[in-house]
Amino acid sequence: MEHYTSYIKTIDAHDFAQRYRNAAYFEGLCRQCPNYGRRWGCPPIGSDCPDIQPFRYVTLLLVKIDIKQGTPADTATLEPIIRSARELFEPRLLKAERDLDGRACLFTGMCPHCPGLECARVSGEPCRHPGLVRPSLEALGFNLDATARDIFGIPMQWCRDGQAPPYLTLVGGVFHNEEHANERFGYK
Ligand code: SF4
Repeated sequence: MEHYTSYIKTIDAHDFAQRYRNAAYFEGLCRQCPNYGRRWGCPPIGSDCPDIQPFRYVTLLLVKIDIKQGTPADTATLEPIIRSARELFEPRLLKAERDLDGRACLFTGMCPHCPGLECARVSGEPCRHPGLVRPSLEALGFNLDATARDIFGIPMQWCRDGQAPPYLTLVGGVFHNEEHANERFGYK
């Protein structure tokens, strides 16, 4: 059982976009990924792109997952660890989206909701679970590496020499108009 630590910050949404969003640059990076255009949570987002302009604030949620030393850096090992964290924390973001009448951005990575099935997007079908799927902040062009480092003081770590890093980092958020939103997440 992995150990998770979660942190939240509510900040000015326009300032966040100005400092950390570069949609063209990250779209270019995503184009190099084999999943580009093959999952509903991934770019290109097109008409499903949430309109974040009307929102004054964004509450960012960072989840730090401690990884045991010596854990191999392979998908079969790390994927279930990330999936567990997503199952635990993404419902909180979706609840905050409802409570705050905002727009949620969930975590980056493999969608956990259709185990064993290819994403419906591959065959041009709508998402099977639209109530559970939102694009990630990264898919909207936000720099999550810089967000984790500058806003939370938790620099992202990467796999090296076949070994997982000491921790993994997930960043999601909800755009909304409530200044004191932390309490909605159970934080002060
Ligand atoms: S829920 Fe299923 S159809 Fe929707 S994005 Fe995830 S894998 Fe694709």
